Amino acid sequence: MTDLMIIGGGLAGSEAAFQAAQRGLKVRLYEMRPSVQTGAHQTQDLAELVCSNSLGSNLPDRASGVLKNELRVLGSRLLECAESASLPAGGALAVDRELFARLVTEQIENHPNIEIVREEQKEIPGTLSIIASGPLTSPALSISIAALSQEEHLFFFDAIAPVIHADSINMDIAFRASRYGMGEQEEGDYINCPFTREEYYAFVDALLKAERIELRSFEEAIKEGVKAGHFFEGCLPVEIIAERGVDSLAFGPMRPVGLKDPRTGKRPYAIVQLRQDNLAGSLYNLVGFQTNLKYPEQKRVLRLIPGLENAEFLRYGQMHRNTFIASPKLLRPTLQHIQRDDLFFAGQITGVEGYMGNIATGLLAGINAARLHHHEEPIRLPQTTMLGALCHYVTHADLKDFQPMKANFGILPPLESGTKIGKRERGKLYAERALGDLAFALGMTNKDETSFDHVAPSAPLQPG
Ligand SMILES: Cc1cc2nc3c(=O)[nH]c(=O)nc-3n(C[C@H](O)[C@H](O)[C@H](O)COP(=O)(O)OP(=O)(O)OC[C@H]3O[C@@H](n4cnc5c(N)ncnc54)[C@H](O)[C@@H]3O)c2cc1C
Repeated sequence: MTDLMIIGGGLAGSEAAFQAAQRGLKVRLYEMRPSVQTGAHQTQDLAELVCSNSLGSNLPDRASGVLKNELRVLGSRLLECAESASLPAGGALAVDRELFARLVTEQIENHPNIEIVREEQKEIPGTLSIIASGPLTSPALSISIAALSQEEHLFFFDAIAPVIHADSINMDIAFRASRYGMGEQEEGDYINCPFTREEYYAFVDALLKAERIELRSFEEAIKEGVKAGHFFEGCLPVEIIAERGVDSLAFGPMRPVGLKDPRTGKRPYAIVQLRQDNLAGSLYNLVGFQTNLKYPEQKRVLRLIPGLENAEFLRYGQMHRNTFIASPKLLRPTLQHIQRDDLFFAGQITGVEGYMGNIATGLLAGINAARLHHHEEPIRLPQTTMLGALCHYVTHADLKDFQPMKANFGILPPLESGTKIGKRERGKLYAERALGDLAFALGMTNKDETSFDHVAPSAPLQPG
């Protein structure tokens, strides 16, 4: 008899399976590899790391380090496997990826309460389940998830436009304005970079010749236009738009309608608009400029935009396959579906980004599924913990700008201290508060007695 079905034997699904099985549930874990491939995974191991072999910082006062310490307290088995497979990497936790995946696979295969079924699961089960099928969820299952969550609540791609520092914009060339003067702010909501005819054609030429990141088989759809979030229906990289005709950008994201350059009093030939990206107004993104150019090429080509010749980039543009649900509409911070107590989501499909965050949500979903099975209330972690903050963020973010989020101090509630403190000190205080509140929430200790110095890594597992 099966108590819990888990779809996906990746980072989240493997951790979830272990946690639930340890709590006595009979778990059936569906993993479609090797019979059905994702295009990114290379092996049939569970918990295969598809790209980097780094699980982020291990330092206790960094965001990823805080998350790791929380996972140590919560008993993450995948983190133990990672520590057993670790390689020297300074302050980071990097692993021998093959050993890591082998250790996880052995743990899961040998667990008496877990049955691994090597099959693609195409439907969402009607009984207690966790969906942890990842950013490359199979198309058939995606259809089933879309049906449950309504089509518009499932996203397939990340489309990120480059973000630059405001103080690197040359305001002698760029100017503030809203189209037709219809903005919310009197001086205009956007910063506009105006092109002459010659500048525009030189820019398009450079864009077309620039080197691109090679698309993987599961990303080919990008060339035709993809759905990448609420406002990105039919979203295309700028270089692909340019390929469709030399003037297509001037009629698309670079159209100058409703704008006049105050220096000439005339409408520019084309325009790039920059939209404020943070509350402080220190960052701006290039509107509609999602791109797959290589990062050094983005820097070179985007600096040809008049006014951006010295642009400093905080983040480069990206477009890549990433299936995730509209968690702010569909999930609770316990990782349960809003309409079904017995249906959990975990991993990248929730909009939590990064290996550690995916392991962490798997852990919480596994624990909560077990609690539900045992007629206990599922846990909602304090928002001051990194895992609690991630779950809070993905379930409360503004849906219209919802993009995957990884562990960072920006999602934690601010510290109570009114005095200005340095970055490192702040990290330490966030870490202490997180572990104190976690211990308190778990009823482990008196809140005041807990400090992150007390948290030692769990004993390493023996490889093989
Ligand atoms: C190409 C790529 C590179 C990435 N690089 C990094 C990186 O360097 N660092 C980082 O921190 N994060 C990275 N990520 C993001 C993310 O952290 C990883 O994808 C991570 O593995 C996600 O964990 P997960 O458990 O949610 O999904 P996965 O680890 O992908 O696990 C999902 C599993 O579900 C299986 N599956 C899918 N559909 C079905 C089905 N219908 N039935 C049965 N099984 C199914 C898949 O085969 C897979 O094994 C990357 C993502 C991608 C796509």
